[in-house]
Amino acid sequence: MENTDKTSRRQFLSSGAAVAATACVSQEVAAQNTGYVIDPPDVVSMEIHGSDERFPVRRVFCLGRNYRAHAIESGDDPDVNPPFFFIKPRDAIIDSRDGLPYPSVTKALRYEGELVVALKSGGTDIDPADALSHIFAYGVGLDMTRQDLQQEAQRLSRPWAISKSFDKSAPCGPLYPVETNGHAVTGRIWLSVNGEVKQDSGLEFQRWSVSEGISILSRHYELTAGDIIMTGTPEGIGLVETGDVIRVGIDGLGEIEVTVT
Ligand code: MN
Repeated sequence: MENTDKTSRRQFLSSGAAVAATACVSQEVAAQNTGYVIDPPDVVSMEIHGSDERFPVRRVFCLGRNYRAHAIESGDDPDVNPPFFFIKPRDAIIDSRDGLPYPSVTKALRYEGELVVALKSGGTDIDPADALSHIFAYGVGLDMTRQDLQQEAQRLSRPWAISKSFDKSAPCGPLYPVETNGHAVTGRIWLSVNGEVKQDSGLEFQRWSVSEGISILSRHYELTAGDIIMTGTPEGIGLVETGDVIRVGIDGLGEIEVTVT
């Protein structure tokens, strides 16, 4: 009788029913603590101009060398090399009003003022003619860069990640919805440090327009609602120090002010 019980239990434990029963118990226990073994990450979200609702961020794609004069100042040849993409983690995005702590492990913190695009839908192989229909809103942001680490990475042909994707490396302002504000296709984009204008260009000088950028990016990734695209910086990049005040503005999208703390 005892042997039979043990045999039965072994059979039960090795059966699918046992696995299902165990999983069920685990879920019940876990459900008492939100269902995750650690607290789930916070939702990163962005303010929406004129609204109490917020835009939840999924991923942050960035365009590199998307203005001809900036490609040249970076030592690139825009007649030979097209723009390219890199990524920041979603929690690189912070509210510009919170200020930017001078990051660790760098002695050369660079500003890059950029147009920010927020997607409400996505897909793959998006036709440039349809690309703008996926945009929820536009905004103003900064792609902050540890320039010394970037130059070392370039010298060693290593990834850019730690130079571009550090904590709080993307201070952004509120998003301006297309529904009320239209599309940001042309218009002045400028940046100043302590009141001195350092970058002064126009969105029309983007090498890959927003439509083209979305289309090309969607060949590489399935884009989704919540994805953010930082569309590259114009010429005039430079360094900032603790205490500096960076202002970035784009026609129709307001201005942001970021203090390096
Ligand atoms: Mn950039």
